[in-house]
Amino acid sequence: MSEERRISEATTVSYPKEVLSRLIDGELVWDSLKPIISGAKDGDRFDKVTEILQERMPWQERILLPLSYDLYIVEKDGERIVKCACGHEFGDYRENWKLNALIHVRDSDEAVKEIYPVILRPDSQYCEIREFYCPGCGTQLEVETVPAGYPIIFDFLPDLDAFYEEWLGQPLATKKEFTDLSDRVIEKWGT
Ligand SMILES: [Zn+2]
Repeated sequence: MSEERRISEATTVSYPKEVLSRLIDGELVWDSLKPIISGAKDGDRFDKVTEILQERMPWQERILLPLSYDLYIVEKDGERIVKCACGHEFGDYRENWKLNALIHVRDSDEAVKEIYPVILRPDSQYCEIREFYCPGCGTQLEVETVPAGYPIIFDFLPDLDAFYEEWLGQPLATKKEFTDLSDRVIEKWGT
């Protein structure tokens, strides 16, 4: 066994779900938080965290991967879709969910001034602020500041099959092609 591996195993602590639940809610003081986030992760950390999040959701579909505090990739009827904590569904996880969100664009000085102090605000001649909201609950899910006209950023397209098979050692029942399908959403806009 390598030295690195021995050290990692020696310092691995298995934290109970109650502690991880408080970690998610930001309730731990720094002295308790630091060893958890800087130490080697216990083997079942992903399972425990997913279980905690699953228990909190008002719906039953299995969470495959949390994308943020409000967004989750879930398994539904053999498909893998993005779902909001409120239950709103955005579609296949390989399509950029932002394309199916409500989008508010701040592309004028007037609009940018509403949220930024004068000397710190981005110049609306060169860039725009895009806010993405859930059509189901109105929660602001993401914000991006980009040059005007820049394509909507696809923040995260995980290779779920590789993650479950190679990292967790728990292959998913069916496989899906790992590819970006966002173009098919845009194609529908033109029909
Ligand atoms: Zn929602």
